[in-house]
Amino acid sequence: MAEPTSPPRQPSSDNLPVIIVGAGLAGLVAAFELSERNVPTLLLDQENTENLGGQAFWSLGGLFCVNSAEQRRMGIKDSRELAMRDWFGSARFDREKEDFWPRKWAEAFVNFATDELESYVKARGLGFLFNVGWAERGDGRADGHGNSVPRFHLTWGTGPEVVRVFADPVLEAEKKGIVEFKFRHVVDKLLVDETTGRAIGVRGRVLEAETSPRGVKSSRTAVGEFELFGSAVLVSSGGIGGNIEKVKAAWPVDRLGPTVPKNFVIGVPAHVDGRMLDISESAGANVINRDRMWHYTEGLQNWNPIWPKHGIRVLPAPSSLWLDATGKRLPPFLYPGSDTLGTLKYICSTGYDYTWFITDQTIIAREFALSGSEQNPDITNKSIWQLLTQRVFGSKGTVPVQNFVKYGEDFVVKDNLEDLVKGMNELVEKTGGVALDLDKVREVIETRDGQFDNTYSKDAQAMLIHNARTYWPDRRSRVAPPHKLLDTQKNGPLMAVRMNLLTRKTLGGIETNLSSQVMRADGTTFPGLYAAGEVAGFGGGGVHGFSSLEGTFLGGCIFSGRAAGRAMADEVLGAAVNTTKP
Ligand SMILES: Cc1cc2nc3c(=O)[nH]c(=O)nc-3n(C[C@H](O)[C@H](O)[C@H](O)COP(=O)(O)OP(=O)(O)OC[C@H]3O[C@@H](n4cnc5c(N)ncnc54)[C@H](O)[C@@H]3O)c2cc1C
Repeated sequence: MAEPTSPPRQPSSDNLPVIIVGAGLAGLVAAFELSERNVPTLLLDQENTENLGGQAFWSLGGLFCVNSAEQRRMGIKDSRELAMRDWFGSARFDREKEDFWPRKWAEAFVNFATDELESYVKARGLGFLFNVGWAERGDGRADGHGNSVPRFHLTWGTGPEVVRVFADPVLEAEKKGIVEFKFRHVVDKLLVDETTGRAIGVRGRVLEAETSPRGVKSSRTAVGEFELFGSAVLVSSGGIGGNIEKVKAAWPVDRLGPTVPKNFVIGVPAHVDGRMLDISESAGANVINRDRMWHYTEGLQNWNPIWPKHGIRVLPAPSSLWLDATGKRLPPFLYPGSDTLGTLKYICSTGYDYTWFITDQTIIAREFALSGSEQNPDITNKSIWQLLTQRVFGSKGTVPVQNFVKYGEDFVVKDNLEDLVKGMNELVEKTGGVALDLDKVREVIETRDGQFDNTYSKDAQAMLIHNARTYWPDRRSRVAPPHKLLDTQKNGPLMAVRMNLLTRKTLGGIETNLSSQVMRADGTTFPGLYAAGEVAGFGGGGVHGFSSLEGTFLGGCIFSGRAAGRAMADEVLGAAVNTTKP
């Protein structure tokens, strides 16, 4: 159905709801804040009701918090100052104009993660696992990228629980008539009053009803049109990670090299299509830092996909040996779990879009965590028994990891190196990859293994492994005892895992001020228009700068969604007060 083109009708009444475009986490948090203040709210989403919560439902639920109760219990000494330095060392903001609001958001977010995030979500009923994970362990420099200490707080119940604690009160407010949902409503245009320049509503198409389960790509057949007016409009429509053409078009060739990778697996559902970025831009919103994205370098093809080209990210710990497509070991400090963007840059320089992990049963069992709520049924279903038997005391890894080893296309499992390299070559032969030379691979592995006779070493990866094991939760359940990979009797079988590039997060987006109000290109605010969550670069149009410290996306949606909800409520209630003034 063609997009309607007539100019917007003017609303007849001032008593209009706040309109939220996108019922993902950012939209839900904003709706929660609005409903707490009894502000009438209308949530629109292009997907069906099954998809409430958007990407956050699929997430592992990791949250970046600073100096939390869990960190203190683990003996981790963290502080606002350390986190701030880590954030700015990773973000490397370098754009005077575009980074004006992102810098302010970064400072505000680190303060929020230190002072409020933990209590804000715990007050809603969210719990954290007792041990704190260490993501993005850094590039080896105190002033460079990465977390100096563990800060990745896994929520007890993962993504579905993060969604639930905000969705439940919003659904309660729906019963009271404060909130209304309209699913299968896809917004095509933001309506702007020509005289005042104010956002006054949205126009779009009603999509045919669908009963497909959550995450499944849905039809775009339209059965009607709509035009809706609001007292304010919030865009919380997510990023571009499900739209491979948009990812390729925004690829930063100046930083990552001239060749845009051909093949990706896709880490987000198809609804993460990025359309609202262009729609908002054509309405007059300023979209900035489009070239900043956060894609992973450890993607597996899902043997049991839900959405098209569904990929699963491995959250690796440091022990696997990482080889590029030609069989060369990745240079320091590009070790598993250390520096995502640095690794991506290196991979792009090879001219190939995949790499290899050389690993073994002992390492896989301990160190392969898979991202995604459905890949972590023990934590998602809050089963302490499963968690302890599989992760802490088990020797095979979680059941989803075992399934990937068994059914995953990217895995080669063999008892000896000869067969392993043969299997690797057979695997890449089908996709036009490089055949590896057995002797060269053996030499790389034996050189690495030669650094594991002592607890000290000149090899930076060996140092990293030993360092990680001084953090006791890592030693107990996350980082395998250091050993030689060719010691297959004790730690075998040997495994090679082809790691693909996996699209995920959009770091740039709609520029916003600290109240989540949208900015225009001339530096003025766009009256009546707000943006939050991934579409706003998680705040400001790019709170992360170039790199993330992980667990910062859900937190960014919560923080920017909260700011938007509170500011819109202030505006709407303030306007109501004003209208009663003489
Ligand atoms: C597998 C996975 C694991 C993750 N793990 C973590 C983690 O551990 N920690 C972390 O911090 N982050 C994690 N993330 C990232 C995080 O979940 C997302 O960045 C975040 O949930 C984005 O929320 P959002 O509300 O901004 O957007 P979304 O969740 O994308 O929601 C946007 C909604 O807007 C709707 N929409 C879009 N366009 C339109 C339109 N034109 N009209 C109507 N509706 C529209 C969409 O249908 C969607 O429902 C993970 C993500 C995935 C997929």
